[in-house]
Amino acid sequence: MPKLKIKVDPDLCIGAASCVTIDAATFQLNAENKAEVYDHGNAPGGPAYEREIEVTEAEKENILLAAQSCPTLAIFIFDEAGKQLFPEP
Ligand code: SF4
Repeated sequence: MPKLKIKVDPDLCIGAASCVTIDAATFQLNAENKAEVYDHGNAPGGPAYEREIEVTEAEKENILLAAQSCPTLAIFIFDEAGKQLFPEP
């Protein structure tokens, strides 16, 4: 399964929650109304704005959709080689 590195920039996140609506297993708002990254609904090692997770192709597509839905482009997606998939560099 592909691995993705997912990162939310809390300075850019405005808590619009469209990412959460699309993929609540990967994105959840914290008390500061910033999206944190989850691993299939879990947060091993504690809450984090950045996480590497293993995903299926379908999950990967959905995570990319969630990132595209973010009005401030606060979500960054990298593949396991470190190549930025979104936003396209
Ligand atoms: S869609 Fe963007 S601004 Fe909204 S909660 Fe998610 S990361 Fe934050």
